[in-house]
Amino acid sequence: MRQAFPIVISGPSGVGKTTVTRELLASDPLLSYSVSVTTRPPRRGETDGEHYEFVSEEEFADLVAAGELAEYALVHGYSYGTRKSVIRETTQAGLDVIMDLDVQGGMQMRDAFPESLLIFIHPPSHDELEDRLRGRATDSADVIETRLRNAHGELEVAERYDHSVTNDDLDKAVEEVRGIIDAERAARDGERATERGERATERGERATECGGAAESGETENRRS
Ligand code: ADP
Ligand code: 5GP
Repeated sequence: MRQAFPIVISGPSGVGKTTVTRELLASDPLLSYSVSVTTRPPRRGETDGEHYEFVSEEEFADLVAAGELAEYALVHGYSYGTRKSVIRETTQAGLDVIMDLDVQGGMQMRDAFPESLLIFIHPPSHDELEDRLRGRATDSADVIETRLRNAHGELEVAERYDHSVTNDDLDKAVEEVRGIIDAERAARDGERATERGERATERGERATECGGAAESGETENRRS
């Protein structure tokens, strides 16, 4: 079976992470979405278990204490985290697990799962980011202000990601991210094929050595 891996998508709020991820999921059967746990209240239209697993502060603290989370962080005033079980079960099923995380979560994933692929999505400009947040119309003016203020901190960490993509034209951004994922899969499959080839060569060499030893009467059985 292929070696599946986690894919982290980060970027400031409103940049289009959810939109890009949704497009990728719709067209890539090898991808599965990691539903995060959060203490944020659901927005209109959000479903428990589909967009997030919505939990209380106490439930979140219990998950942390029990060591159930692969990463977690306080983002825009609420706690968010990824269940270890989601990563384990998805990758064991041979699917790459794509997750929408803030940069604190992205850095934790790189430490805990070094095989993770980290992709940062940039806005074309600060004004466009603001327009998208306001246009989405899911957050109050206060919440939008907090998210715009936090965008600077997020952008500063971008250079620590494996890849950066600017979401100006949506279709182009999706294609770019798809290209990064496909290239990574091909590189990893290639590495595994090379490793398999090397192991087969080693086995072949060992068999030749044993065969040679047997012919020259050097095996234990022959000696005894
Ligand atoms: P995030 O998940 O990063 O917070 P969303 O995916 O919710 O962001 O996108 C924020 C808003 O911007 C949504 O209304 C979405 O439809 C819109 N949007 C996303 N990508 C683009 C784009 N390339 N051009 C214009 N609007 C976009
Ligand atoms: P939103 O409230 O808009 O859905 O998400 C707010 C922020 O939380 C986004 O930056 C998103 O990437 C981040 N986020 C969502 N789920 C997780 C998670 O499981 N862990 C971390 N660290 N951040 C998350």
